[in-house]
Amino acid sequence: MIHMKQDRPSFVFVMILITIMTIIVAGVVVAVATGNFSRKKDEEKDSEQTSEKVVEVVATENKTEGETTLETTTETETTTEQETTTETETTTEQETTTEQQTTAEMQPSAGTQGTVDFNFNPVGDQKYAYLTFDDGPSENTYPILNVLDQYGVKATFFTAGKTDSASLERYKAIVNRGHSLGMHTFTHDYGQIYASLDAFKQDVESIHKLLLDVTGQDVRLYRFPGGSSNRVSKVDIHTLIDYITSQGYIYYDWNVDSGDALSKSICAEEIVYNIMTQSQGHNRIVVLMHDTNAKGETVKALPGIIENLQAAGYQIVPLTTKTLPVQHVKASYMR
Ligand SMILES: [Zn+2]
Repeated sequence: MIHMKQDRPSFVFVMILITIMTIIVAGVVVAVATGNFSRKKDEEKDSEQTSEKVVEVVATENKTEGETTLETTTETETTTEQETTTETETTTEQETTTEQQTTAEMQPSAGTQGTVDFNFNPVGDQKYAYLTFDDGPSENTYPILNVLDQYGVKATFFTAGKTDSASLERYKAIVNRGHSLGMHTFTHDYGQIYASLDAFKQDVESIHKLLLDVTGQDVRLYRFPGGSSNRVSKVDIHTLIDYITSQGYIYYDWNVDSGDALSKSICAEEIVYNIMTQSQGHNRIVVLMHDTNAKGETVKALPGIIENLQAAGYQIVPLTTKTLPVQHVKASYMR
């Protein structure tokens, strides 16, 4: 039974609770800042990942704070915590860092870097947009590259395995024109890739070898088919993440979905709208798009996407092995 009299004590109790939470968060911030992305073996995966997904969903649906539930409120605190941590890291050398970061972020062709140390550029106040194209190359690869060239911006292509001569030229064009080349999958057959760890390894090794043979790049960037949050895999995703990490590969999910794969009838205007609405409130956006024969609307949308993102203050840069990843299910080096 709840009586009116309890309102004030409840309020006091909530205030005390908030105070305690604040102290805990502050403590964690200091601890995390001290750790500075050092690799931790933390087995408490599930709760964190579940809440991370909540954040992603909330971000995707662009909900207002007023609508957030208790779960999301808790997560919001975690997010704030991370941002505060990053700020703490950058405060000391903020002015120089921003410039260094700009230079670092601008460097394309991440795949050429032979080793990965899982240390990432600090995140400053600059807004960055990472345009990513999955499933290519395709007949739309050159049209996409042409628009990117026209605006002088670089993007990232998470490619699939294609061995016809036209595709081989397209892989090379992606690299030669200064964009980041990433691995997505060789077969893009979810049933096959995610059937077992061995099948997964074989798929990743195949696309890695193809890209190495065709372009000479030892590609380090990876994107899970369906994202690390996919529900298709018969193997625990953490097992696959551990494998990817053991190979020195970094996987990137997305926090903005253009929606170009969700509906066949989606038009360019909707794609631009999806991206711009989901990007609100985010300083760093990894945008999911597709490079396939059917994605003419994505090509049509691209000028509007670039112009709107730039007008919103985003610098459009390719992913590199120094880019702090966006991961739906986090790797150990991100925890
Ligand atoms: Zn895909």
